[in-house]
Amino acid sequence: MTVASRLSEDPDITVLLIEAGEDDRTNPEIYDIYEYSQAFDTSMNWAWPTKEGKTINGSSINGAHWTRGLNAQYDAWSTLLEDDEASVGWNWDGMFEYMKKAETFSAPNSQQAAKGAQSIASYHGTSGPVQVTYPDLMYGGPQQSAFVNTIVNLTGISHFKDLNGGTPNCVSITPLSLDWHRDDHRSSSVEAYLTPVETERTNWVTLARHIVTKIQWSNPGSVPLKASGVEYAYWTNSTTRYTAHARREVIVAAGAIQTPAILQLSGIGDSAVLGPLGITTQIDLKTLFGSQASTKVAQIQGNLSNWAASQAVRFSPFLRFFAKYVSSDIGIDLWGLLVWSRGNVEIHSTDPFTYPNIQVNYFSVPMDLDIQVAATRLARRIISSPPLSSLSTGETIPGSAVPDNSQRGTDAAWQKWIKNGFASVHHPIGTAAMMRRDLGGVVDAQLTIYDTANVRVVDASVVPLQLSAHLSSTLYGVAEKAADLIKAAQ
Ligand SMILES: Cc1cc2nc3c(=O)[nH]c(=O)nc-3n(C[C@H](O)[C@H](O)[C@H](O)COP(=O)(O)OP(=O)(O)OC[C@H]3O[C@@H](n4cnc5c(N)ncnc54)[C@H](O)[C@@H]3O)c2cc1C
Repeated sequence: MTVASRLSEDPDITVLLIEAGEDDRTNPEIYDIYEYSQAFDTSMNWAWPTKEGKTINGSSINGAHWTRGLNAQYDAWSTLLEDDEASVGWNWDGMFEYMKKAETFSAPNSQQAAKGAQSIASYHGTSGPVQVTYPDLMYGGPQQSAFVNTIVNLTGISHFKDLNGGTPNCVSITPLSLDWHRDDHRSSSVEAYLTPVETERTNWVTLARHIVTKIQWSNPGSVPLKASGVEYAYWTNSTTRYTAHARREVIVAAGAIQTPAILQLSGIGDSAVLGPLGITTQIDLKTLFGSQASTKVAQIQGNLSNWAASQAVRFSPFLRFFAKYVSSDIGIDLWGLLVWSRGNVEIHSTDPFTYPNIQVNYFSVPMDLDIQVAATRLARRIISSPPLSSLSTGETIPGSAVPDNSQRGTDAAWQKWIKNGFASVHHPIGTAAMMRRDLGGVVDAQLTIYDTANVRVVDASVVPLQLSAHLSSTLYGVAEKAADLIKAAQ
C-alpha cells in the first residue's frame, strides 16, 4: 500500500494493487484498536501457524504498538550486502529518516502525560501518512508507575522517555498507530496511504478479493529473467485465471509467508523443491526460504553462547514486557521478539490455494527457551518485588505449576510450563532476505530478486535479521525507502 501510494504520486506511473483480502475499512474489528484480537479467528486472518492479516490493510489486525529496534541492528543489514551496496543506506541513519517519513506523531496531551507517557520530538516524524500517538483510554492506575519503578529498582534497566530513537533497551511506555483526530481509529496502511488520495488518483487501481497465483515471464529460461505480468484469481478457490500485464515492474508484497510461496510457484526457489512438483526452475536459489534451516540452526547454536557473551551489553534488549491489567488481576505479557530459531516456507503443491508447509521450529535453538525461562522468572520477581508487590495478594499463574524456590522456579518446571502453553508472538521475516547471494540472499540492495530484471520484493520477507521491536514502523520505513529506489530507477 505504501509503495503503491508513493509510486502513484507520479501521474506517469500506473499501479495495480492486487490484495487477497476484503476492503474492510468500515469493520470495527479492524479500525477499533480496543477490539484487538477480534479479527483473529475470522476470514481476516490467514490462520497460518504464525498470524497474518488477510485484509486490504495487510496485517493491520495487529496490536498497533509503534516501536523501532536497536540502531546497531539496522546497521547490521548493510554488512550482509556487497561492499558497493553500502551507500544505498540500509542502516540506522537511512532507515530512521524513512521510518519518520511514514509518521505523523502527536506528543502526549496533558492527561496522557499525567499517566506517564513521554516523548522526544526529534525521534518522530511530523508529516507522514501514519498517525501515531497515545490512546485516549490510556490506562492510568497505580500499576503503571509501580511496574516501571519495580523494573528500574530490580534490574537496573533505565526508564527512558521514548524508545523510538534506536535505543530501546529500557522500560518505556510505547505509542500506538492510531488517529486521535478520528476518535482513536486505527491508522492502518490503507487509511494512511489510500483513503486520502483514492478519489483523485486515477492512475492507481486496487483490486481486493483476488490472489496472485504466479508471476508470468516474457523470457523464461533467460537471465536476467523479465516479468511480463502476473496471473491472478478470485479469492475463493476459483479455477479461472486472469492476467495483468506489467509495463514496468512486478512488486511482490504478500508478507513473509505468501511471498516465498508466490515466488516458488513462479519458478524461483530451490530446484530440489520445485522439480518434484513439475515446476520449471527459472532461478535456482538453493538456500531460499530456509530449506537449509537445520544446518543453519546448528551453526547458530554452535556460535551463540560465545557471541552472546561478547555482545551482551550492545544487544541485550531481547524482550518486551507488557504489564496487563484485566479486572482485578495484574499480569505480564512476555513478547520475545528477538528469536534465533529459524524456520522455512515451502510449497508442496502447484495449487496456489493450497497453503504452503510452514516449519516454525520454535525453540530449535535452545537459547530461545533459555531466554523465555529467564523472562518468566523475571516476571515472577517483578510482580513480587516492591513497589508492585504492594498491589498484589499473590501469584495465581503459574502458581503451583512452577513451584517457587530460591531460584524462583527450576529451569525444568518453567520449560515444561512454557512449552505447554506457548503461543508465539514472533513476527516472521527473512523468507526472501536482502543479503548477498552467497549468504542465501534473495534480493539485492535495490530489493530486486537476483537474476531478474524487474521483480522486487517489499515486505517483511526482505528483512534479514530480527529486531528488538515490533515490525510495522520498520516495514513502513522499508516501503518508503523502496518507493524512492523504484522511482529513481524509472
Ligand atoms: C496479530 C498480530 C499482532 C501484531 N502486533 C504488532 C504490533 O503491535 N506492532 C507492530 O508494529 N507490528 C505488529 N505486528 C506485526 C506487523 O503487523 C507485521 O509484521 C506487518 O504487518 C507485516 O507486513 P508485510 O507487509 O510484510 O505483510 P502484511 O501486512 O501481512 O501484508 C501482506 C498482504 O498480502 C496479502 N496477500 C497474501 N498473499 C497474497 C496473494 N497471493 N495475492 C494477493 N495478496 C496476498 C495479505 O492478505 C496481506 O494483506 C503484528 C502482527 C500480527 C499478525
